[in-house]
Amino acid sequence: MTRAMPQITLPDGESMPAYGQGTWHMGENRDSRADETAALRLGIDLGITLIDTAEMYANGVAEEIVADAMGQDREKLFIVSKVLPSNASQQGTIEACERSLRRLRTDRIDLYLLHWRAAHPFVETLAGFERLQRDGKIRHHGVSNFGRRDMAKWVSAGGANIVANQILYNLNRRDPEWGVIPWCHDRRISIMAYSPIEQGRMLGHKALAEVAGRHGAKPAQVALAWLLRQDGLIVIPKASQQQHVRENLGALDLTLTDDDLVTLDRAFPRPGRVSARQGLSYIYHRPALASVRTWITDMIRRPRRPH
Ligand code: NAP
Repeated sequence: MTRAMPQITLPDGESMPAYGQGTWHMGENRDSRADETAALRLGIDLGITLIDTAEMYANGVAEEIVADAMGQDREKLFIVSKVLPSNASQQGTIEACERSLRRLRTDRIDLYLLHWRAAHPFVETLAGFERLQRDGKIRHHGVSNFGRRDMAKWVSAGGANIVANQILYNLNRRDPEWGVIPWCHDRRISIMAYSPIEQGRMLGHKALAEVAGRHGAKPAQVALAWLLRQDGLIVIPKASQQQHVRENLGALDLTLTDDDLVTLDRAFPRPGRVSARQGLSYIYHRPALASVRTWITDMIRRPRRPH
């Protein structure tokens, strides 16, 4: 059954889905292509209208898989793709986008991002984006992996109509909460959270299991629900397995309680709020920090001088 997706409102008044499907690593193995296409297609049939891809993913094959999964449904989808920094000169950006459009078998990309900071001056990439926008080949532009300083430079280079910054952000990666997220929020620039379940690595964490257990939910659903409750945030989990597509969508029905948020905050503290105990545990479990460990142990064991 198709369901309505949460939406965010862009500064021009248009809506953009707050939940989408990622595609990194799709297309890397020919034998998996049918399963990957079927997973994306299932997501579309269930109502997921945003798909995130990039020219980088499997050298463009991921974009072809998106086209296969999309079929005749282009009109209802919101497609995001990205230009590689090495292509991000003015002309290079235009040509990269045209190649992506051919692979995606469409005439426009809804949101086109600079994948990460390029050696090319921002004004050049922006000139490429502006030309593509004028020609109707991209509808909005954005960036990815930008910190606060680069965001400010992008805006002063002429990119004030930027709509999104796609960054690594999940329960285990909360650094952006002190810098780039509030910066973007104040300027109505949306954040797209990539690797929202840390590529599956965080799912064994006991706090996620505890919160999931309270709701009869799965750890991935808790991690996604934690992101989805935040205003102006877009979440793009990737799943090649249909079971994962269905499971992740369940996050939209999960409302975390205040107790859940306290449990998650304790297990995944905001940066800057690390307790002394957590700091010591970090040092004691990293072989590379052996000399710091020895120094601390010496300090603790050193007899105190009498006053
Ligand atoms: P992710 O979405 O956090 O995790 C994907 C991995 O988790 C896959 O191995 C997937 O397995 C597994 N998985 C998904 N749902 C699961 C579930 N319910 N239970 C257990 N495992 C589950 O990581 P990501 O792919 O890095 O990030 C998402 C998307 O963000 C990417 O695909 C890409 O579109 C985008 N991204 C952008 C950048 C950038 O620089 N802009 C960087 C990284 C990612 P299966 O595939 O086997 O189902």
